[in-house]
Amino acid sequence: MDKIVSLCRRRGFVFPSSEIYGGIGSTYDYGHYGVLAKNNIRELWFQTMVQERDDMVALDSAIILNPRVWEASGHVGGFTDPLVDCRTCKLRFRADKLDEAQCGRRPSKHPGEYSECDLTEARQFNLMFQTHVGALEGESSLAYLRPETAQGIFVNFKNVLQIARRKPPFGIAQVGKSFRNEITPGNFLFRMREFEQMEMEYFVPSQDAEQWFQYWVEERFRWYLSLGLRESRLRKREHEASERSHYSSATTDLEYLYPIGWSELEGIANRGDYDLTQHTQHSGAKLEFVGEDGERYTPHVIEPAVSIDRILLAFLVDAYDEEIVAERQRTVLRLHPRVAPVKAAILPLIAKNADMVDRARSLYQELRKGQIVEYDDGGAIGRRYRRQDEIGTPFAFTIDDQTLEDDTVTVRDRDSLAQKRLPLAGVRNWLGDALERPWQTPKPS
Ligand code: ATP
Repeated sequence: MDKIVSLCRRRGFVFPSSEIYGGIGSTYDYGHYGVLAKNNIRELWFQTMVQERDDMVALDSAIILNPRVWEASGHVGGFTDPLVDCRTCKLRFRADKLDEAQCGRRPSKHPGEYSECDLTEARQFNLMFQTHVGALEGESSLAYLRPETAQGIFVNFKNVLQIARRKPPFGIAQVGKSFRNEITPGNFLFRMREFEQMEMEYFVPSQDAEQWFQYWVEERFRWYLSLGLRESRLRKREHEASERSHYSSATTDLEYLYPIGWSELEGIANRGDYDLTQHTQHSGAKLEFVGEDGERYTPHVIEPAVSIDRILLAFLVDAYDEEIVAERQRTVLRLHPRVAPVKAAILPLIAKNADMVDRARSLYQELRKGQIVEYDDGGAIGRRYRRQDEIGTPFAFTIDDQTLEDDTVTVRDRDSLAQKRLPLAGVRNWLGDALERPWQTPKPS
């Protein structure tokens, strides 16, 4: 994990937030390449979940909702983690995750294991951030920053049903920031206080819920493989009844083998009719499906939920590689080309050669209309290749002496380091095709 954190910092993927003031726990700012990679992940999710389907619509609901939403959903009463304090070192821990935490005095031990540890009894701590809406602070102005995007979908169920004229099975997908006052944040992008969720609520007749639940577990698993995650690092884990959230009748996590061990990447839950029933009771609005023949029922809900941040961390971990090439160490991010922040680098071999620079710049101008590409003429060519390897750029086009003679360029492949020549005029199409091709990591499983 340290290597990933340091690469992200060095190459401007991720910065600790408000760093000049000493930072703020588990909050990060994304720099240029981080933004580009996140955009790609968001677009790939949206393409699969919405664009390429007949049964899905999009939504972008507000972050601050009427606080009654969170009473109805059970979050005010039950969105808690068990918290313990250590009277000796004054640190706080999640009582159910002590085996993942370090003792404040003896970091090689877990809290409670060292002779000086003095842990309190566990008490429940609500993870929702509170705020106040309007000029007056008081009970009546209390509001919450949403801890999940899902509730914004449930409270819009009727709007979508009527206006988008949908009939189960259908889904509503949403991407946006969620906030949780996590007790033991840490582990970089894995557990943050502010993160970007991608959630989809799929509404189905109750008798079909189990079958759709299985369908979404498989679909989501396949999505990660299609983006090149190694299958040996991805697994499905069914929750025991005791682990499941208050609303869920079945949950399967897709777990990735992060440097901290197997941990939840995405959760797929069968939420039953819990949410629609709760909001019907609390709001008085009947959140049910009424068919043309008068049939009426409350749909059950299947939910795949994930954050872009945990996906990005999994991709970075899976992609990070070091190897020796020509007696020098090369650090390379073997990201799927569609996830990679920059798709190609355009490099004039000799920066002082005006003809090479002209050709390279005009290729750059042409390619950047369709893709994120980078022009670089700073330093020796080997150094420039290595800079691109570190940010995971899958292809580099080099303009050299031969280009000036026969209008061809060299294309270098990040993974195999193979080089071949292409006609300059065909580079744009070649790149478009290369980004569409299936890709598999050369890293061993
Ligand atoms: P955990 O048990 O790790 O706290 P959770 O079961 O509470 O996670 P869910 O409520 O199921 O998480 O949230 C759905 C998804 O949102 C998770 O699978 C994860 O991808 C993402 N997520 C949840 N909390 C965070 C966080 N603090 N930072 C980054 N991503 C998060």
